[in-house]
Amino acid sequence: MLVKAPRGTADLLPGQIERWRWVEEVARDVFRQFGYAEIVTPIFEHTELFERGIGDTTDVVNKQMYTFLDRGQRSLTLRPEGTASVVRAYLEHHMYSGPQPVKLFYIGPIFRYERPQAGRYRQFHQLGAEALGSQDPALDVEMIAMSIEIFRRLGLADFLVHINSIGCEVCRPAYKDALRAYLQPKLDGLCRTCFERYEKNPLRILDCKVAACQDAAKGAPRSVDYLCESCREHFDAVQKYLDALGISYELNEMLVRGLDYYTKTVFEVESRSLGAQSALLGGGRYDGLVEECGGPSTPAVGFAAGMERAMLALEEQGIQAPSTRGVDAFVVAFANDKRGQVLALVHQLRQAGLVVETDYLQRSMKAQMKAASRMNAARVIICGEDELSRDVVQLRDMTSGVQEEVPLATLVERLRAELC
Ligand code: AMP
Repeated sequence: MLVKAPRGTADLLPGQIERWRWVEEVARDVFRQFGYAEIVTPIFEHTELFERGIGDTTDVVNKQMYTFLDRGQRSLTLRPEGTASVVRAYLEHHMYSGPQPVKLFYIGPIFRYERPQAGRYRQFHQLGAEALGSQDPALDVEMIAMSIEIFRRLGLADFLVHINSIGCEVCRPAYKDALRAYLQPKLDGLCRTCFERYEKNPLRILDCKVAACQDAAKGAPRSVDYLCESCREHFDAVQKYLDALGISYELNEMLVRGLDYYTKTVFEVESRSLGAQSALLGGGRYDGLVEECGGPSTPAVGFAAGMERAMLALEEQGIQAPSTRGVDAFVVAFANDKRGQVLALVHQLRQAGLVVETDYLQRSMKAQMKAASRMNAARVIICGEDELSRDVVQLRDMTSGVQEEVPLATLVERLRAELC
């Protein structure tokens, strides 16, 4: 029996990886331009970090974590999101004592035990950014602008930006009360998960996908009507700056996001060309998380985008990565006592910076020529025994079909001049 990849994971094969690396490259360029520096954190952390950071009333913590005991009986968890790790690193390396805001980005795998379907996996990848140490609404807008700039550069302009404000610890309790009061008569009709959410996390009922819960949530009080003065001013500024940047958005009062730590602004960008799993990215402000993790009170804002979703949207719209450099030269080799000399030539060409392929199957000259044209090699170098004994090779230009004899002494320089 063949062992297959675990459910909800996927291999990235040649032919797919080019587009993947291109997306990463575009994202890295955009992040750098906006002043964000890359951070790489471990793929696993102490379980406690996520329990404390993300919140123990969330699906991610309750149902979706890959948690295990290591051989030293420590409880570790494969990271189910990126923000908690960045906050941990910010504290561990005392970044709060340097110049603020600290602007960081990351790209890497994320693990959640979810029911796999198109666009939803158990190992997936996020690219995300966090700005810590400022409550300026300009940073909320920078996050939105930066995230959609990545998608715009990839050629994906068919998206919708949803924003909402879910208030802060000052105004949210009153909103939660109003929401509970509204939902109380409908409690029996809610799905089991929402029934459980009612006490601790009633906001999540608003974005439940179950039809009965959506019905129950229709007409529910809106968080924007319960904002305290500071949250109101902040949200007004966010909208004013979005307008100033010419970014169109929709106010979506049902948008609450899945994780507990959000405060004030939350946002999501949805692709119009994807089906059920249409969220390209999500983010928001989390002014209480750093303190929750044991640090000084530090406002912050961030976002995370799904790489696989970006791939699906690119595929959907037939957008390819710009073509990468192909094979410069295919060296036709024969299994004879001159093979060492041929392999040395291949090596020399590669050291000179050319992309070079050769034969490893002892194929006929005709089969090797076929292989070279299948690879779209720009040149073929034929090293016959007679040629090598005279220190020359046959050089064939595969576009023009012109073939000529070239001294080995000038070959590398000539190919560098023509192809590099
Ligand atoms: P979240 O961390 O849940 O806010 O998700 C941020 C983004 O990550 C989403 O908008 C999706 O693009 C992507 N994402 C979340 N969960 C998954 C998953 N299970 N599989 C693939 N992409 C995901």
